Amino acid sequence: MLVDASNALLTWYDAHKRDLPWRAVAEEIADPYRVWLSEIMLQQTMVAAVRPYFHRFTTLWPTVEDLAAADEAEVMKAWAGLGYYARARNLIACARAIVAQHGGRFPNSEAELLQLPGVGRYTAAAIAAIAFGRRAVVVDGNVERVVSRLFAVKEALPGAKNRIYDRTDAITPAHRSGDFAQAMMDLGATICVPKTPACGICPLHSFCAARAEGDPARYPIKAKKAERPTRIGHAYWLERGGEVLLVRRPAKGLLGNMLAFPSTEWTEAVPAGAAPARAPWEQAGSIDYVFTHFALTLHLHCAMTDDDGGDGIWWPVDMLEEAGLPTVFAKLIARGRAWRSDQRLGLRQDI
Ligand code: SF4
Repeated sequence: MLVDASNALLTWYDAHKRDLPWRAVAEEIADPYRVWLSEIMLQQTMVAAVRPYFHRFTTLWPTVEDLAAADEAEVMKAWAGLGYYARARNLIACARAIVAQHGGRFPNSEAELLQLPGVGRYTAAAIAAIAFGRRAVVVDGNVERVVSRLFAVKEALPGAKNRIYDRTDAITPAHRSGDFAQAMMDLGATICVPKTPACGICPLHSFCAARAEGDPARYPIKAKKAERPTRIGHAYWLERGGEVLLVRRPAKGLLGNMLAFPSTEWTEAVPAGAAPARAPWEQAGSIDYVFTHFALTLHLHCAMTDDDGGDGIWWPVDMLEEAGLPTVFAKLIARGRAWRSDQRLGLRQDI
């Protein structure tokens, strides 16, 4: 049954696989650099969002050596907007490790891949299987959903992860395990979707326990999530002569090394102010943003100054889109600009 199921899936994949820019075409072997880059970008991120970033990165840095030699700030800037910025820092560290320790060639075993920065069990297995044709058990969110339905796994996630891994191992073929992994991902993305699985056209239809039970969408069963706490922060728009003050965030921690507006800590209690200069600060609204582990309300305070002070980088207001600010800070740009146009309007009225 298990062999029949994996054969049925591979036959379906040969006819219906998605056309993705990081995949090998025709008989070519997938390029490990492109497989690795795409897998890092796809963590917690939809394919449609990744496509333009993948194109940008492979245009700017076509090989792992190019990426290893890149300026870190340029890489962070190119990543801006994709979120989960630790991935970008690990990307650079990993590219440099591959050049320094492996002569610019990706290792092909899961054990060696796992030693690289930012490469966990899933990514190591995906690269080993897809780029090197090794038999490896590849379990991402899509695979987790398909397998939990195929076997009607009653245990709730995340506790069920090991059981789902073992089940995936049982159906992973010795040959074409990279294609098999990609077939499972494609099936999860296009047919065995979260809310309305299209069982009628599924190649695993006759093997699927959840479909036989009659309510496949109840799988995977998930443990109730803890509520996401809300944090509060203040950010500062300090403007001087058409430029606004940006600072580079500390290397360690959330959004590390990214350019941003100066801001306070983000805490559940109201944080103490941390304005970058003495100035006639005015409130200019707030934005809401949701991180994985907390929701943030960020209040913006704006002021004009003539002082030369302020540690950081003075950046032209009209070119802020090019600063590569992370999304949470990029959302403040419109508020800051609205505030400054109100200021100008006020000045004109005074005249
Ligand atoms: S039969 Fe339905 S539930 Fe089962 S794997 Fe296919 S789409 Fe998913």
